[in-house]
Amino acid sequence: MRPLTIAIDPSLGNPFAPEISWTWRYLLTGAGYPWRIGFCHEPCDIAYTPDPQCARHARIVIRAMPHYWKRRTLMRLAGAGSADGFVYPVYAGEHGNDRLITNESGRLIIHRDIVFDVFWLLTGQEETHFPKNRHGHVDLTGTPYLEDQTLRKGLASGIGARFERLIGETGIPPGEPRWTHGKRAAAALSHDVDYPEVVRWLEPLRVVMRQGVRGLPAALDVLTGKRHHWQFDSWLALERAFDTPSVFYFVARQGSLREYALGTPDSFYDIRAPHFRRLFRTLIDAGCEIGLHSSYHAYASIEQFAREKRLLEEVASVPVVGNRHHYWHLDPANPEATLAIHEQLGFAYDASLTHDRYIGWRRGSCWPYFPLLQAERRELRTLQLPTGWMDSQLFLQRAANPGSPNEVLRALADQTAAQGGLLLVNVHDYVFDEALFPGWSATVRHLWEYLVARGDFWMATPAAIAAHWRHRYQRLLAASVDFTNICGAAFGIGS
Ligand SMILES: [Zn+2]
Repeated sequence: MRPLTIAIDPSLGNPFAPEISWTWRYLLTGAGYPWRIGFCHEPCDIAYTPDPQCARHARIVIRAMPHYWKRRTLMRLAGAGSADGFVYPVYAGEHGNDRLITNESGRLIIHRDIVFDVFWLLTGQEETHFPKNRHGHVDLTGTPYLEDQTLRKGLASGIGARFERLIGETGIPPGEPRWTHGKRAAAALSHDVDYPEVVRWLEPLRVVMRQGVRGLPAALDVLTGKRHHWQFDSWLALERAFDTPSVFYFVARQGSLREYALGTPDSFYDIRAPHFRRLFRTLIDAGCEIGLHSSYHAYASIEQFAREKRLLEEVASVPVVGNRHHYWHLDPANPEATLAIHEQLGFAYDASLTHDRYIGWRRGSCWPYFPLLQAERRELRTLQLPTGWMDSQLFLQRAANPGSPNEVLRALADQTAAQGGLLLVNVHDYVFDEALFPGWSATVRHLWEYLVARGDFWMATPAAIAAHWRHRYQRLLAASVDFTNICGAAFGIGS
């Protein structure tokens, strides 16, 4: 495959070279192209410059806005909050605007700094402004993210997919496909194993709180032990029918009701118990992945986090390559600090960078990506698999997530397919009971039927998806000139 020639205008200067390089890697590997260095005044495929006139020989010109980079970078270097006082309306809907791209003498000119847009979205610059609850969950009330359902659009991967189409429009052959088996997109089912064993005196109250008096018969069934939360066989049967094994994320730190009441809401089960050891065997034999559901405070102690990973690996007798935090509880003040711990612990992927209450993609990308560690200005080695939907969002958070569940999920699947992304969904292990959770598992079945009927989704475990993405990423990187060199040459730094 022919590498794309990319020219980056020297006027962009070196203060933001690492951030620009990282964003370009997302766009180009996403689109499936290796790259090499070019210069604006020579023929090149793509030029990134504030002055399109100086890139007369480029096929595509992206108009860079150095003042955005400068403003954001200077604030970061000054130690200010990443974007204090800097309102940047990336969600303004301009990306669908036809006038955004013009054809001038055979060159396609993009009149917006889409590189900065992608950087802004993927690094969550605005999140520092929004209020958070005690778990660190961001409150988006009153923002376009909710009012315009921006999270469901996948703006960053949408820009990537549009950019990929533009490259094709210039006559350049397609890049390496994003997915395997000739599929257009990917999907994976994941289960957070929070509460597989009910507390029989407590759970009936929770059922009635959820369902009102209608829930009394089911609550009584739980009290007498007729109904329970051990639903693994039901999931395995459903997944076997579709031939789509899933991942189960287990909490490896046993909590208690007392701790729960005091603010540490960890699960109550003990993965060392014999019935859990048998369960691990059953799941692994069925082709499922075993992942870590790191405990509520795991982010605060790398030793504790490591202990949990080690214990799960020991008890399940398999390597644990994937993680998701219980309660999506990353470091509320600095989520990237937690992502850096994933790298230190050697996780291949994490799937925690998601909003608790809102359906859609928190960082605007349904493409997996290697996050930027802004403090060190480098890319992390643990892949982020963005989770697009958690079950409770459509059943317990109706006001924040309007629409009929089946229609909302079909639209999310269609959007994922349109961008060639990943639809990773999170359904709790214990909700597979029509009386206790009416409609929940039926909705998953409906979505899975829809995806299988579409025929263009590669459905696999997150571990398999992450391994595929990493290998493809490394192949493209190996065939490319490192972007530090590109920026170095363009910016006059390095040798
Ligand atoms: Zn959980």
